[in-house]
Parts: sequence; C-alpha cells; structure tokens
Amino acid sequence: MSEISYFLNNLDEKGKEMHNLMKDLYPICRSITGNGVRETLKIIKKVIPLEIREIPTGTKVFDWTIPKEWNIKDAYIKNSKGEKIVDFKESNVHVLNYSVPVHKKMSLKSLKNNLYTLPDYPDWIPYLTSYYQENWGFCMTHKQFEGLEEDVYEVVIDSSLENGHLTYGETYIEGSDENEVLFSSYICHPSLCNDNLSGPVLLTYLAKQLAESDLNYSYRFLFIPEAIGAITWLNLNEQKTFRIKSGLVATCVGDPGSLTYKKTREGNSMIDKVVEKVLMDSDEPYEIIDFFPDGSDERQYCSPGFNLPVGSLMRTIYGKFPEYHTSADNLDFVKPEYLANTLEKYIKVIYILEKNKKFLNLNPKCEPQLGRRGLYEMIGSQKKEDLTISALFWVLNLSDGSNSLLDISIRSGLRFNQIKNAADSLVSKNLLEMVKE
Ligand code: ZN
Repeated sequence: MSEISYFLNNLDEKGKEMHNLMKDLYPICRSITGNGVRETLKIIKKVIPLEIREIPTGTKVFDWTIPKEWNIKDAYIKNSKGEKIVDFKESNVHVLNYSVPVHKKMSLKSLKNNLYTLPDYPDWIPYLTSYYQENWGFCMTHKQFEGLEEDVYEVVIDSSLENGHLTYGETYIEGSDENEVLFSSYICHPSLCNDNLSGPVLLTYLAKQLAESDLNYSYRFLFIPEAIGAITWLNLNEQKTFRIKSGLVATCVGDPGSLTYKKTREGNSMIDKVVEKVLMDSDEPYEIIDFFPDGSDERQYCSPGFNLPVGSLMRTIYGKFPEYHTSADNLDFVKPEYLANTLEKYIKVIYILEKNKKFLNLNPKCEPQLGRRGLYEMIGSQKKEDLTISALFWVLNLSDGSNSLLDISIRSGLRFNQIKNAADSLVSKNLLEMVKE
C-alpha cells in the first residue's frame, strides 16, 4: 500500500494502457441491456475486481421499469443482386440501437422511412437509439444513402427483445472512513469512444490506482447503463446514499479539447471547490459551468429527492464536438495523452479530498522564528516550487483550526501542493498540529 501522490508516475504509460483497454472494448455492440454489457464488464473485471449485478426485466425502479433485454447477432440490407449494402458486421452503429427483429423485402421508397443519415457530415454514420418505443432502422453515411437505386431490398435484423436482465458493475474500495466518494460511468453505447468508452476506461485505471493506495475515504465506482442504470442503482441503494460526500460522473474524458467541469446542483459543495482548485492549479485552459438538469447521470444523482454532491469532470462536453454520437467518435479521435491528462486531474482531485485537513498553529502569538528551526534551509534544499516562505506564512496565519488546507490554498492563490508541503514542514518542526475531527 502506498500514499496517494499529487503527481502520477508513468502518465504516458497509463494513457497507453487506457487506450489499449478501449481498443479491446471498442468492437462490442453494447446497449442499455444485453450481452454487450456483460462482455464489457468481463473485460474490465480482468483489470479491477468488479461485482456484477443482474436486475430482472419488469422490476420497478422509481417511476421506471427495467425493460426487456436486447441482443443482436447480425443485421444487413441486401440489394437484388445479393450484395450487402449495409452490414452490421462492418459497424455496429449501422443498426438503430434496440431495433426489433425484422426480415422483409421492401421498395426503396418504403425502406427510406427507416434510414437515418447526417447530411452535414456525409461520411459519418449517426448513432441513434429507440429504447422505450419499439422500432427498427438502419443508420448509414449520407453518401451511401444518396447512391441508393430503385430496387427491391432484403432487410434483416437478427435481434431479440425478451425478458432478461439489466446488468451493471460496481467496485467498492474501502478506506478507513465509511464516507464515500462516488465515481460513475456508463457502458451502454456501441463502438463510440469519447462519448462512451473514455469514461469507463479512465475509471478502471483510477480504481486500479486507488486499490493500491492507503485511503481515508471509501470509493465506489459504477459501470452502469446511462439513465436507467443510475435510476436502478439509486433505487436499490437509497439507504446508503447519505454516505456519498463527493462524486463525479466521468464522460467525454479523452478528446483533444480542454477540461470542462459541470458543477453539482448545489454549486458550492466540497467537490466543486476541489475540482475548481485542481483546474486553476493546472495552468491549462478550462471552463466551469453551472449545473443544468440535462446531460448524463448527474441528472439522476442531482434529482431533488437525492441532491447528491455529484459534478462531472469532462473535456469537451457532450453534444459540443461534431463527432458526438457518430461513427467518427472512434479510436483515432480519443488519444492516450488526453486520457492521461484527464486521469491526472482525477488523481489530483482525490489527493486534495484525502489530504484536506485543518491544522492549528501551536505558536500563534506573533510569528515563530523560522530561521532558528531550520525552515529557511528546508526551503533552500527543496525545489523552488514545492516550498515557499509565503506558503509557510499563509499556513501559520490561517491555521486557527477553522480553515482547511484547501481554504488556505484558495485564499492565498498558491497551489494546493505548496500549502500541503508547507503544512508538512511546519508539523515536522512542531509548529503545527492537525485538528482531529
Ligand atoms: Zn451518448
């Protein structure tokens, strides 16, 4: 077991590992239920321990009901020459997700009622779903669509929609405290990388790192189908949610854009302050946006009956990059270095949550004499950035038992790590004492 560090070692290597896991998960046809979810969880379970849960079709979860389970083997459109002009085996995005089974012959005119394209991006296939309304359809490039000729087409969707289960995965890493930090990601999109696989891949490696660390908080990681999965988890775990003190939804964490933080519903929770500080300390561009009741699973965690302190730390927000929900959100769009950069921010968030303690100045009447205690020499022996005289003064002055290290770092404008190092140095010289809470 090791201490969680402010700086993550081997970030480049971690980026590649996350991207490799994404490559393994990419080909699987996922949906909100079915074998694609099971296969996905099985692969994640090779990296971290995972409890896999199965909730039967028909189960009531608040205002919702677990739907029938969807599975698909194959789908295609054949022209009269027997050529497959659209083939699920080439891209699983070709099928309207949750399509009911179909096998019929159709004219071009009636087939067109069930075809979907993106005229603005004629080389990309749109990703569309129809979970709660029985329907079928094919998604294709607009170029392909424009080339379709009058013909009799054979349409096959070899899918099933039957009583089964909703499947999700959960990992719990126990710290010394039963108060929890929640990390949530979804696993319901087929071959799509930034909006979808980037989140679970990042959380898998975050959980792996935490499992090897000494922790105060306990950490819970969810790998669930979006919306219905969060609703299900909250329904089954309602009595435990009071333990959740901070949380983040991980989505769109691997694109080239800069970081975006969507605040919690309250907007001034601990997690809001911590993420804002991490982004401010990063010297990279970022954006902070207020909560809005749309988006990913934060809309369930932040529904008024729960109002949990859960925000979302992303790169480019869903819907704001053109590749969103298209076949162009692929393994080339998400790069190892962007995944690594986001992972670093998540680790720093955890570091602050773990290390944010309050201290008491043991020599509060006028300044203590730092030189006599060797503190100036300590500054000289460390890297310039790590320990500064100004950080020592800030910590001594504000450590009256009411300000945390995060409060001091925000008020001073110094990096959290500088304030933490100053506090450690002052503790080592018996000038400071941690306040037991
Ligand atoms: Zn999506």
